Amino acid sequence: MNHPIVIYSRAVLNGLLLDRATAAGCTTIRSRVSQVDTNGARVNLVVGGEQKFADFVVLAGGARNQLLPGTTALGAADLEMTQGYFVPTEDDHIKIKFLKQFEGYIWSFPRADHVSVGICGKMSKHSSQTLRRHLDQFVIDENISLDGARFYSHVLPSPQAHTLRRRRIVGPNWAMAGDAAACVDPITGEGLFYALRSGDLLAHALIAGQPDAYPARLRAEVSADLEFAARIARKVFCGRFLGGAVTTRMVQLLNHSATFRDLIRDVFSGAQDYRSLKRRMWAQFGITVAEFTKSFVDPRSCKDAPQPLGGGEPAS
Ligand SMILES: Cc1cc2nc3c(=O)[nH]c(=O)nc-3n(C[C@H](O)[C@H](O)[C@H](O)COP(=O)(O)OP(=O)(O)OC[C@H]3O[C@@H](n4cnc5c(N)ncnc54)[C@H](O)[C@@H]3O)c2cc1C
Repeated sequence: MNHPIVIYSRAVLNGLLLDRATAAGCTTIRSRVSQVDTNGARVNLVVGGEQKFADFVVLAGGARNQLLPGTTALGAADLEMTQGYFVPTEDDHIKIKFLKQFEGYIWSFPRADHVSVGICGKMSKHSSQTLRRHLDQFVIDENISLDGARFYSHVLPSPQAHTLRRRRIVGPNWAMAGDAAACVDPITGEGLFYALRSGDLLAHALIAGQPDAYPARLRAEVSADLEFAARIARKVFCGRFLGGAVTTRMVQLLNHSATFRDLIRDVFSGAQDYRSLKRRMWAQFGITVAEFTKSFVDPRSCKDAPQPLGGGEPAS
């Protein structure tokens, strides 16, 4: 990676954010919010069975958030199922595997003191049994020992373009941020950057006394790009290019073109947005093809290239 990836334990990352909020003057209450009523002069909340009042409420309850003043919950077509294992082992490689005609992917990510092996797939397209079957096959193929491993399953948003464009995320005295506002990359499933950025944009809109300006600012910086990603997601996972799967062609280009590797590095580190990706791809198409062709004629020219999973056929 040109820009290194930072790996945090969630407890540490969330703790750092809470510490900052406390240092800035917030009082934190660790309790479940069971009701939010935004119809009165002040917002009325039930927190751990107690009534509280607020001028404004920010709902950041994640993908399954059910506190919905004046908007709808995210449905199966806007959600992705994840399943995985926390495996008590160490690794220094990130592995990604694509499956045939499958909208999602399998991963093995090194964490601070374990490896997270998992799969994500569109909830409306793939059953949890199918996900588990693919995941368990990957575990066998990759020779991963599940001794002491812990199974997990979560839901995350995988928003459709029209959900990002039309779903209401702000009212006169409430707003949503992060997963609750469906701010997640529909291709990679990454949402941490968008959760932080949406919170930041909302905070600035509130400080300026213009909560209504929040959706437009979010759209300009985040949602328009995510909408674009939502429109191309199916093509990325299930489309075909030059007679093969897009994912297969992608892995082949990664192995044989340094220029294409740079581009994908930038996509995964967030330095390259989706909207200008097509322009950049076409602008460097000639050099990518030249590098690809050269590596067949002279295989030494791609000696620093990463190898595909298992060292054999590209995974797809
Ligand atoms: C398995 C998995 C792996 C992922 N890996 C990555 C990754 O590597 N990189 C990345 O960028 N993104 C990743 N994501 C996505 C990322 O986790 C989310 O996009 C991000 O955490 C969203 O932050 P959030 O604060 O909006 O929601 P969440 O992190 O879901 O936080 C919501 C919080 O609200 C609390 N809550 C919910 N309801 C209530 C209530 N009624 N009262 C009080 N509290 C409530 C919950 O307990 C939770 O603490 C992953 C997601 C999954 C499921």
